[in-house]
Amino acid sequence: MNSWSAWKYLKLKKMLTDRRLRHRDFYVNAIMKGQWLSSQEIEEIQWTKLKNLLHFAYHRTPYYKKIFAEYGLTLNSFSSISDLKKLPLLTRKILQKEWIDLCCPDWRGKKYLNRSGGSTGEPVNFYHDEIYENYAEASRKWTYALCGLKKGERRVKLWGNLRDSPDGTKVVKKGNLLFINTFTLDNALLEEISKLLIEWKPLLIEGYVNSLYTLAQYLLEEEEVRIRPRAVQATAEVLFPSQRKVLERAFQAPVFDRYGSREVSIIGHECERHSGLHIMGFNNIVEIMSDGGIVVTNLNNYVMPFIRYVVGDVVNSSTEECRCGRGFPVIEGVQGRANDVIISPRGKRIWGYFGTLLYQTPGVRKFQVVQESLENLTIRIVKGPDFIEECVDKLREEIQSNCDSSFRIHFEFPEEISPASSGKVKFIISHVKQGG
Ligand SMILES: [Zn+2]
Repeated sequence: MNSWSAWKYLKLKKMLTDRRLRHRDFYVNAIMKGQWLSSQEIEEIQWTKLKNLLHFAYHRTPYYKKIFAEYGLTLNSFSSISDLKKLPLLTRKILQKEWIDLCCPDWRGKKYLNRSGGSTGEPVNFYHDEIYENYAEASRKWTYALCGLKKGERRVKLWGNLRDSPDGTKVVKKGNLLFINTFTLDNALLEEISKLLIEWKPLLIEGYVNSLYTLAQYLLEEEEVRIRPRAVQATAEVLFPSQRKVLERAFQAPVFDRYGSREVSIIGHECERHSGLHIMGFNNIVEIMSDGGIVVTNLNNYVMPFIRYVVGDVVNSSTEECRCGRGFPVIEGVQGRANDVIISPRGKRIWGYFGTLLYQTPGVRKFQVVQESLENLTIRIVKGPDFIEECVDKLREEIQSNCDSSFRIHFEFPEEISPASSGKVKFIISHVKQGG
């Protein structure tokens, strides 16, 4: 490294590890520059951020004080990122039970109360601080920049979560953002959305996967309605490859997968090469467990540290590096919620399979697989106009030969499948008690 680039690196490192409160643009600037550092440099910055976080958690939160003592740890027990493993996992159960002790009791700065329902529907409370919020916002802006959106350009948000629009307002315009609540997405609203989008001409359409997918199917049927953004950003639900193809066809634009959670904000996002999701490494350190479970340590939230938090999703790690030049590591993509698993009578664990199979079947608008008992599966399909009745037998055969021949499969064809209160459509429901 020559002295000029060494100086630039040290300056960036200082920006990304300093906790004095700055103007919001400061964080965006630091992330946009920092993404081009090498993976070693990024790791070094992560390690500095992690050391500071551990120091704070140990000295200032009752929960971590207790955990360090229980596990016989001191701050000297940590000499690299991999030593994180010495600490236990932080599960939702612990979060529910210990959330008061997880917080810093004498916090002087601002703090924001947030809540998430999670896949179990049991809400957990948590606090975020101002530095966290600034990094979260800057990371969102980083994802928009990866989609090719420039500062000030119009975007639209098709959002399925009722909580984010508490008064039930369907359409809200705010600066260069058009927000549309898509919790109940019927034909009348689809027509209204199309008109709004033609008028608004957004450069980026971001939204829940299923909201975007429903709109895309509508657009492919209504050929004269053309909506041409520069990019589409899909989030909040698993994006299956065949859904991505439908979105690309309907909007004639590249599709970017964005992954995050309410507790730790942006975790990963695709770059223009679409070869996996880059981890937002200045926000989070990501560990992938042997079963694919994702564990996240947030590097910015001090008021209530999330160290080794079990997000509850299953992802594929990637051994390949992206060639775009960004130093953030890459994961292949989200496979599903850890709870979205069906265990066959022979003990096979199945998750991504149904989404891949059913979204490849012509005329399947939406689906839901319900495991009523170990052997009984009900597959609920909302039919589109090009659904072929004969495909039912083919689907049954495929599932039996690929998953388990002892499955008894029953089909239902409801008019609609409603999302859960989070706005997310649960595509796997299992009534079978799962051990381990
Ligand atoms: Zn890349």
